[in-house]
Amino acid sequence: MKIVVLSGGTGTPKLLRGLKELVDDLTVIVNTAEDIWISGNKLCPDIDSVVYALADVIDDEKWWGIKGDTFKTHEQLKRLGFDEFMMIGDLDRATHIFRSELLKQGYTLTEATRKLKNAFGVKAEVLPMCEEEVATIIVTPQGEMHFQEFWVKHKGEPDVIDIYFKGIENAKATDDVIKALNRCDGVIIGPSNPVTSITPILLVKGIRDGLRRKKVIAVSPIIGNKPVSGPAGKFMRAKGYDVSPLGVADVYADFLDVLVVDNSDADLVGRYKDIEVVATDTIMKSKEDAKRLSEFLLELL
Ligand code: GDP
Repeated sequence: MKIVVLSGGTGTPKLLRGLKELVDDLTVIVNTAEDIWISGNKLCPDIDSVVYALADVIDDEKWWGIKGDTFKTHEQLKRLGFDEFMMIGDLDRATHIFRSELLKQGYTLTEATRKLKNAFGVKAEVLPMCEEEVATIIVTPQGEMHFQEFWVKHKGEPDVIDIYFKGIENAKATDDVIKALNRCDGVIIGPSNPVTSITPILLVKGIRDGLRRKKVIAVSPIIGNKPVSGPAGKFMRAKGYDVSPLGVADVYADFLDVLVVDNSDADLVGRYKDIEVVATDTIMKSKEDAKRLSEFLLELL
């Protein structure tokens, strides 16, 4: 089966550890709206987490960075008086340097990502959602800030008034993304933040039309009335969505075929708008959990 997955940086990489064992033609289209230049290098947090998860080197306690990484360069930069507000591991930084050097040599982000994932021995295709730079901006009472400043520097504490994606109006799907969507048998939206991880992908010109032509299944990152982790609840509320699995369905309502909710939300099973709602265990604590959920999703497709 040819499967396309849309991914952010935590929940979907967990799922990918299962899917990669079961699907031989797998393409992951990844959010790049949280990318940021720091300490001279371009970080693509969601691309890196997807590559590390597929390469089985991700730190599966924090769900970012490389397992067993050290932070010597980060600590030295701080000693030198440089305020690097994100914790960047030494091995992780090598990824950022590798990418940034390729970009400076004129490679596209798509090409640089392909070289990176190949160097990590990853078989699946990993594609940035677009080439244009897009930045997720969080509007708070303290002012506007980049997503990473909000989440890392300010620990996600400020109230959220609004969220917007700077530069998204210029973003168009790359040929690789369009081709992957056209040739696939179905699309899986993993449990990712619907507002800051998946909405930017949906806003890239060409992607939504591609999704409307395919069977699309999404796994709810919200269980009951809370996300499993991260700021999805705060962001959904700011955008006027109910913080619930059905609120997630509302974000995807114009193209979604099936919403997968957790067994603890089994009361939602049935139909919602034009969407079929089904339930299974969606918490992934281990690779085995991810594999079981992946089997369930592939069965649905
Ligand atoms: P984040 O909100 O910035 O962390 O962005 P991500 O796109 O990485 O979103 C991760 C989403 O996945 C969060 O909304 C979590 O609630 C959700 N999530 C994380 N782990 C799991 C899991 O094991 N099962 C399910 N159903 N959701 C998960």
